[in-house]
Amino acid sequence: MEVTRRRFLVGGSVAALAAPGLAGLAAGRGGVETDARKDPVWVASSPAMPSLPRFEGDRKVDLAIVGGGYTGLACAYYTKLFRPDWTVVVLESHKLASSASSRNSGAVYANYVGISDPEMPERGMNRLREFIEKEEVDCDFAPASTLMLLTSKSAAERARSDLEPGATFVEADELRERTGSDYHAGAVNPPGYYRVHPMKLAVGHARAALHVGAELFEDSPALSIETGKPARISTPRGELMAGNVLIATNAHTNRLGFFRRTMYPIHQYSFATRRLTSEEIASFGLDQWMLRFERQMLPVTFSMTPDGHFFVRMVLGYASHDSCHWQDIASAQDVARRIFEQRYPAIADVGLSHGWHGVTGHTTLFKQVAGVIGDGNIHVSAAYNGLGIMPAHNNGYLTACRLAGREEEDTRFLTGVTGQLPFPGEFYRSLILKPAMKLLTPV
Ligand SMILES: Cc1cc2nc3c(=O)[nH]c(=O)nc-3n(C[C@H](O)[C@H](O)[C@H](O)COP(=O)(O)OP(=O)(O)OC[C@H]3O[C@@H](n4cnc5c(N)ncnc54)[C@H](O)[C@@H]3O)c2cc1C
Repeated sequence: MEVTRRRFLVGGSVAALAAPGLAGLAAGRGGVETDARKDPVWVASSPAMPSLPRFEGDRKVDLAIVGGGYTGLACAYYTKLFRPDWTVVVLESHKLASSASSRNSGAVYANYVGISDPEMPERGMNRLREFIEKEEVDCDFAPASTLMLLTSKSAAERARSDLEPGATFVEADELRERTGSDYHAGAVNPPGYYRVHPMKLAVGHARAALHVGAELFEDSPALSIETGKPARISTPRGELMAGNVLIATNAHTNRLGFFRRTMYPIHQYSFATRRLTSEEIASFGLDQWMLRFERQMLPVTFSMTPDGHFFVRMVLGYASHDSCHWQDIASAQDVARRIFEQRYPAIADVGLSHGWHGVTGHTTLFKQVAGVIGDGNIHVSAAYNGLGIMPAHNNGYLTACRLAGREEEDTRFLTGVTGQLPFPGEFYRSLILKPAMKLLTPV
């Protein structure tokens, strides 16, 4: 069922009135979901996003980008750099970067889930680094000491004997002494990790895109995309005829009616302490190893934010293929608190002040969904399988190269939807995915 313009507008105002108590209001099963997105901890310590208009009227454009996270904004920026003569419009259903791009853990490294080429992710990292430098994006991007924490003795022994070049092994005793936690059986300290302030990076993307002349619109959902040349995009207040389209809607993509058999949203929950003093940070051993990942099927991330909050991020699971709402936030909070208490009891005593939900797009074989579909003028970049700060920026760049007809060897990695394993319908997903993820919950 399609969401009409009227239904979106009514749904949006009801959600706004009900926020923040009501976790979200789904306006039907097609089109966009209107939801009240509670700010993550990053928002308070970031400069504000530029204020932006809503899209109104009927227009013809060269490129319409649906989704205003890192992917959509990076693509808008690079496309305008390569084709200054093009009209490039970004439609964002809520506030810019208000989904995964502001709600993540801020860990960056040269890795694309599902791409084994050893050099392509390095080139992606360099591109992100160059963007940050050239556009002078003040986003706390810096190398970060990191731990890959092992939760069993056998995993620790395997990791100790399979150490990669540049990595060192940290014994359980040393972990206990330096972090006050006796939960882990050891850890690997790998090289090559960076941290970034997610919201500051997003603001940098928006400013850079505006600076080169892209037009950005908020509260302007694409309600439907009719493929064709040109493609027709309907919004609540007008229609776009677009020569080219990029679908950059990440976990929300199913809802637009695309990739319903190959993509699915996975929910996450993050929880942070208040700002800690520098004495507290030192006494809890948080002045070393800023990023800490537990290596298991449903990974848990611990991190120190640049301005002194300690936080945990965990995977909640699967709810439904066409909804990005997680109904039971109270029990998510409960699991998050238990994780914190088990791993870092002293810090958990400080209390957990911020909590926010996030959602990522996934595929069964962990391959991203990126490339050209339809008549050749519809591009997509979504489903980074949980790790997408650098891949989202880099795919925005690669898509812009393809749109502008620029030679770039890495566009060969944008293979569209080839190699995806179709997933059975909602009934079977609920039967398989929900219980499997519950079993794997790390408490
Ligand atoms: C809790 C959490 C922790 C994470 N940690 C890390 C990490 O440490 N490192 C890392 O590399 N990655 C991490 N990620 C993943 C990373 O944040 C994402 O892969 C990345 O932000 C994806 O960017 P995007 O622009 O593709 O998607 P998004 O940021 O999700 O943007 C998609 C946008 O599309 C908009 N949209 C949806 N439907 C419509 C519509 N119909 N019309 C218009 N707009 C629409 C949405 O509102 C949204 O703003 C994490 C994600 C989460 C949720």
